[in-house]
Amino acid sequence: MALRLEAGAVGRTIRAMSNPLLDFSGLPLFDRIRPEHVAPAIDTLLAKANAALETVTASDFPARWDAIAKVLDVATEELGRAWGAVSHLNSVMDTPELRAAYNEALPRVTEFWTRLGADERLYAKYKALNEAQKTAEPDRRLSPARQRALDNALRGFVLGGAELQGEAKKRFAEIQEEQAAKSQSFSEHVMDSTDAYTHYVREDELAGVPEDIIQATKAMAEGEAKEGHKLTLHMPIYLPVMQYATNRHLRETMYRAYSTRASEFGPTERDNTGLMKDIVGLRQEEAVLLGYKTFADVSLVPKMANNPQQVMDFLRDLAKRARPFAEKDMAELRDFARTDCGIDDLQAWDVAFVSEKLKEARYAFSDQEVKQYFTEPTVLKGLFGLIESLFDVKILPDTAPVWHESVRFFRIERASQLIGQFYLDPYARTGKRPGAWMDDVRGRWKRPDNGATQTPVAHLVCNFAKGVGDKPALLTHDDVITLFHEFGHGLHHMLTKVDDLGVSGIGGVEWDAVELPSQFMENFCWEWDVVQKLTSHVDTGAHLPRELFDKMNAAKNFQSGMQTLRQVEFALFDMRLHAEPGRESDVQSVIDEVRQEVAVNIPPAFNRFQHSFSHIFAGGYAAGYYSYKWAEVLSADAYAAFEEAATPATGVLSPEVGRRYLNAILEAGGSRSAMENFKAFRGREPQIDALLRHQGMS
Ligand code: ZN
Repeated sequence: MALRLEAGAVGRTIRAMSNPLLDFSGLPLFDRIRPEHVAPAIDTLLAKANAALETVTASDFPARWDAIAKVLDVATEELGRAWGAVSHLNSVMDTPELRAAYNEALPRVTEFWTRLGADERLYAKYKALNEAQKTAEPDRRLSPARQRALDNALRGFVLGGAELQGEAKKRFAEIQEEQAAKSQSFSEHVMDSTDAYTHYVREDELAGVPEDIIQATKAMAEGEAKEGHKLTLHMPIYLPVMQYATNRHLRETMYRAYSTRASEFGPTERDNTGLMKDIVGLRQEEAVLLGYKTFADVSLVPKMANNPQQVMDFLRDLAKRARPFAEKDMAELRDFARTDCGIDDLQAWDVAFVSEKLKEARYAFSDQEVKQYFTEPTVLKGLFGLIESLFDVKILPDTAPVWHESVRFFRIERASQLIGQFYLDPYARTGKRPGAWMDDVRGRWKRPDNGATQTPVAHLVCNFAKGVGDKPALLTHDDVITLFHEFGHGLHHMLTKVDDLGVSGIGGVEWDAVELPSQFMENFCWEWDVVQKLTSHVDTGAHLPRELFDKMNAAKNFQSGMQTLRQVEFALFDMRLHAEPGRESDVQSVIDEVRQEVAVNIPPAFNRFQHSFSHIFAGGYAAGYYSYKWAEVLSADAYAAFEEAATPATGVLSPEVGRRYLNAILEAGGSRSAMENFKAFRGREPQIDALLRHQGMS
């Protein structure tokens, strides 16, 4: 079967079956996509998308939503879907050939999206369409969801510089390029400084460190034909050394190296001091070009928070409430260091070590013990059962072409109607990126080309350890929380009822609210009723014993006061740096002030944490790091509605509250603001109380 393109879009027909990336008739043909398919498919789809852009921006093309969508959105959706399949495979089945094909095509794809987002002609069409709305007869007006998609698009054009003229426009584009290059250098310096450090030690210097780390560091030294053990600053080595090494001098050495990466204490060519100044300066210049006072203001335009002051007030309030608990955490830590570890002057390099010892002394249980109960089939059965009862759906096994034999595929139905489908790729393997994530394969969309409703499809990717022999995989409680978290994102994507692509599911959801449904799901992992259904011991089939569950619960909020203050410290530093123009010339003074204000545990003067804070200097979190805590307030308060409605019969699993949450939050997705969704569910604005209570700080 050949795929017919829109007449006039590109003027030729693609033989879809010869290149699996060009077959959009159903689910992606993951079993047939090869590296050599990437370049020709992306070339074809880019040509088609470019032709579509030219078509809809022609002066005689009507400024009508449907007309534009039918040509442009259909073309860009195909490009997005095919590129999504390629990037997915690049993330989960990396090979040198695929990586080369991906990197070869990446700049062309990025260039297209950037250009599309700042195209003045397209912006003019959407503006004309928006203007016409104001005088349109009620029956000709866009639906509220579609109007929101249009508003988002217009805002994107403005923030993308589409309104700038002449020199300003030229400078705006230069700023984008300079920022991208400097951010890339920033993250390379962090990576290179981390990689460059090695420290060789004798075995007796590693007293206290777990056996697997001793073996691994020995093997690394042997690999270089060296004696002893090779230590590095990579997390899997650095962290256990800091947590378990009884050798205080070693911990200090490692801490100094780690906390001064990419700073003036290392080689000049890897020092990020100048880059931080430049990056923040460029952002400020961009903000002024766009007509804003500070970059913090620009960053908040598409977010739920209204202005930098509101965010700073929120963070300071949280700090004030967490402070007594953090002080108590710190006092306990100092006492324990003195009485049980022989450390009278607790230093930064002792904190992880003493904390670990205190935790062991206080809550005697191991992850290893807990794991035996969370067998993967039982966890999945329990999770699916929970989703089915709360959200009135059925989850059933389904079939689709997959990229690896361990990948499973499921469908979600309501009253025998297909709602969405998902791939579950649970296990770690070579060539698969670490971590866990949800990604969309395609979004829910009432297609403008044929009027059919495209159902959403999601990727749920984890990196659990596979079961040994014929035993099922055993998950740690952290793994279970991760699985629930990603399913929360997945449900947000798949249970939407919105028909417009830009605002269906997670589309168009504010950055600082997008973690609401995911963090929300994590709460169920701490409910006794739910946990029982998630557990059956790998050998005996027994549920998790109450006594062990109680110990896990007691350990849940260990040092939550100190951890909260640390997050507030990072977030407040980020927000102030981007809200106080000029401060970038002395970044250290900003973090020093923030620490004086909120920290209970002030790091040594040589600490250069900010020099490796890639989230804000090389990631998407600039003036946005607060989002983690912000969304946590929303998710905790949403969950509290279930706690308030709990009865002996249903526990927290009230089907009635579940349906309301489904309607107000999951189904509405980005079609309304996050605040409207929240108020529709809760009947009021979010409150911080539930978060404090869940974290043992009330
Ligand atoms: Zn998440």
